Amino acid sequence: MQHLSRPILSRAAYAWARPQRTLFSGLFRKSPTTDPSSAAAASLFHPLESSPVPALRAKAALIKSLAPCPVCLDTAAQQGKPRSHVPKVAFTCPDCGFPTHSSEAHWLADQPAHKEYCARLREVNEDEHDLHSPRVKAEFELPGAQDYESTPSLASWDSFWYTRNFKSVDGEREQRHVSKLLTYPVTMAGVLHRLGPFAAGRTGTGKEGKRLTREGERSMAALHTSLHPPMGATPSASTRNAQIPIRLFILGARAESSLPPHVWDQLGHLFPFTRFELFFVGPQAALPARRVQPADDADSLAAPAPADEENTRHGIYLPPTPRANSETTALGQLHTLETTEYGVPSYTLHTSETIKLTTLRARWEDVCAQFGPFDPYTDVFFAFCPGLGFPSPSAGVSASGGAQGGTRTQADVEWRETLENVLQSKCALFLTGFSPRDVERDVRSLQTPSAVAPATTTTADADADAPLPLPPLEYDTLLEPGPNPFASLKWEAGDFDPRVLVRVNWGVWGIRGKRYEVGQRE
Ligand SMILES: [Zn+2]
Ligand SMILES: [Zn+2]
Repeated sequence: MQHLSRPILSRAAYAWARPQRTLFSGLFRKSPTTDPSSAAAASLFHPLESSPVPALRAKAALIKSLAPCPVCLDTAAQQGKPRSHVPKVAFTCPDCGFPTHSSEAHWLADQPAHKEYCARLREVNEDEHDLHSPRVKAEFELPGAQDYESTPSLASWDSFWYTRNFKSVDGEREQRHVSKLLTYPVTMAGVLHRLGPFAAGRTGTGKEGKRLTREGERSMAALHTSLHPPMGATPSASTRNAQIPIRLFILGARAESSLPPHVWDQLGHLFPFTRFELFFVGPQAALPARRVQPADDADSLAAPAPADEENTRHGIYLPPTPRANSETTALGQLHTLETTEYGVPSYTLHTSETIKLTTLRARWEDVCAQFGPFDPYTDVFFAFCPGLGFPSPSAGVSASGGAQGGTRTQADVEWRETLENVLQSKCALFLTGFSPRDVERDVRSLQTPSAVAPATTTTADADADAPLPLPPLEYDTLLEPGPNPFASLKWEAGDFDPRVLVRVNWGVWGIRGKRYEVGQRE
């Protein structure tokens, strides 16, 4: 088949997609690439609890320890009983293979409701097993540099794949896999590129083209002068090196920092004139280990942190915490990394002539002084699914906390200092969310701090020890919240509740610190 004759351009993605040991068993099977919709697909289905993939068995155990039975949950709600006393799921649905109810009787009783999401869970089940199967995943062979004469299209995934000459992404499953791999770099490109779906005046008819505000048009015009060459120029090492690098700061980095590094080259291919320096910053940023972990661990089935329980109660999808490419392997490195120029555990890698990746395991506010001053022409911030509107896990233990209890959001606690800092830089900040509800919650958390504050902006406030209320953050919207054409097409089921199905980077929006003439700096 043609899959086998094509050179493997992306060994790391390949390794990421499935364990090394199955590489050859896949290559030498008699019919290596049969139609996934045929008999091969049937063998992809396994109940998670008896899956041949250890990571998926672990996922089943995690769900059983976290997810309440929906039928029992309703009963408890009617009786006014607390959610914590609701029996967890134990019975595995034979159709989707997920543990979904406390018993077969409750599963049967709940059929009408369960049928609404059972097929989607089945898809998740088969996708996960396919990812771990020996199938040769030609869709992970990512194309190289773009021909200068041909212009990539960033209107949608389909046009992107077509104009970038992606192979083997014809099937829906392949599209889901590749979109999950590429959603981070291509979402960034979609926002930044002058041919992106949001670029002002470009589409005219498309509703995405109208989401860029007047402030957004100004910000993007500034960035485009730095990102794109003058007409008729030809990219070369000298033109690139003459340029100031574009710095992309990815804050609160989690899964995106554990992508195979070469995946970021896809961003570079869309901007052949531009040098990028990407900084993944966050306490959960994944530092590379020397040994590449097999895919069984890549999706991170670490037990949830105690803090996650809080969000579980609120029915919020929680992304799995990346395993940082094996904590134990990384630990040995961390000691040597402590002494890096940034003073925190960090790692820098050049994946190509134009892409430099640096990961810093730290909070942004602790390292940002090293990166200043910031320039809205060359610096852009991103926060992928930051969960700003999630209830803050540490709100309850806040020393200055009044009677606010668990109602404070992460925007007001974990993210507050970071957001203030980024807004002060006047550089663009683009954010994504898992679902319409997630994005809406994040936006609301910025508009109305969890402690209700007066709308006045008096400067007389002594910010001494007055715990609350927080003043609202002052920002302009650059990109109105809405769907992201480069969202992952692959569904993710919440471990705390498989009924919650979301997609990474479903939506995107953008803001920037409000511009004032005076009094910006403290
Ligand atoms: Zn039940
Ligand atoms: Zn089911």
